[in-house]
Amino acid sequence: MYMPVPVFSETDAVLKHSKKIAGFGKKALIITGKSSAKINGSLDDIRNVLNGEGIDFIIFNDIEENPSVETVMKAKAIGLSNNVDFVIGIGGGSPLDAAKAAAFMLAHPKDSAELLYRTSDDTALPLVLIPTTCGTGSEVTPISVLTRHEFRTKKSISHKIFADIALIDGKYLCSAPVNVLRNTALDALTHLIESCINIKTDDFSRMFVEQGLKLWSKNKDVLETGNASDEQLQEMMNASAMAGMAIAQNGTGIPHGLSYSLTYKLHVPHGRAVGYFTAGYINEAMSFPSSENSCGRYILDTIGFGSIYEFAEWYKKLYGAFQVDDEILSEAVNELWSNKPKLHTAPFNISYESLRRIAFFTKDVSGTLSV
Ligand code: NAP
Ligand code: ZN
Repeated sequence: MYMPVPVFSETDAVLKHSKKIAGFGKKALIITGKSSAKINGSLDDIRNVLNGEGIDFIIFNDIEENPSVETVMKAKAIGLSNNVDFVIGIGGGSPLDAAKAAAFMLAHPKDSAELLYRTSDDTALPLVLIPTTCGTGSEVTPISVLTRHEFRTKKSISHKIFADIALIDGKYLCSAPVNVLRNTALDALTHLIESCINIKTDDFSRMFVEQGLKLWSKNKDVLETGNASDEQLQEMMNASAMAGMAIAQNGTGIPHGLSYSLTYKLHVPHGRAVGYFTAGYINEAMSFPSSENSCGRYILDTIGFGSIYEFAEWYKKLYGAFQVDDEILSEAVNELWSNKPKLHTAPFNISYESLRRIAFFTKDVSGTLSV
């Protein structure tokens, strides 16, 4: 069990921990997305803290969804030319992942982007992460997933970059449209499920999974109505961080592996794409009830679904008609089939046929659903 990130989850977390933020250096590179941080108040909070503490900063607000290696290298260039000595990532998983990769590249100023995917030390500039979605848990994971256009897919960098502090404040979710809440909460749920149905699951990761699933379940109605109290938003962020702590131990699994084709080729948002394969993965696990890590029934009970079909129906209700061509699903299967380490995260044997069953489950059952 290794979770080295100090986490402060509370209202006004950024404002309350100004001294700790100021302790990381004299000039910060703030990395964020195009507009949401301005609207949800997180950028104002960090600006107020840095101005109040006399810390200089420069803002790079050009991070796209599913950030690319090229964008990370632009952030690195701005950081280098401004002599920054620490990095602050604000936003959903895209800016947070980009901030990790930039903090790593800034600590290796002479190296090219190839170093992201080569073995070396994991040294990075000090890193502050402030999430504004309730999905990736990137603020507590060592993972940074980047788009690699040359390979037409997404891939985690080869380095483990943990934040030096994570500041979690549910108020930043107030401005999130229901689709952002849905997509990102489905991502958090899939992290919990992949961490539970996993060859590496143990007492510590189960601890995060259990409380994460309970908090997720308690607030899942928000994904239908879009209405949430401040307490619910904080709990949704906490569920996401717990899911992140779980995957920080066990890594992500088969639904994530299948999702990258949907995101790259069809531009399906990350959480919605991983959620598409979640029912199939639980269903497959339930056909191996004797495996102690096949906790499919436990998951459904904890999140309040009577059967896997009820869960699949709920997913379809959230998104309406949403179908994926057989060709894209087959490509996703073929790409993942060559990634044996990812297949071995499952606690049961994955054959080519079973991988196809997982990939096609939502499509195959949707004709029988009532929505
Ligand atoms: P995202 O790609 O960071 O953001 C999606 C959209 O939501 C953007 O348009 C963003 O706007 C907007 N947004 C963010 N916060 C908002 C708020 N509070 N209110 C309103 N809109 C808001 O979404 P994400 O799902 O959080 O991150 C997905 C990425 O994380 C993927 O690249 C995925 O591969 C990665 N990921 C990483 C890990 C990990 O452990 N590191 C785990 C899972 C997934 P702006 O662009 O204007 O900010
Ligand atoms: Zn994810």
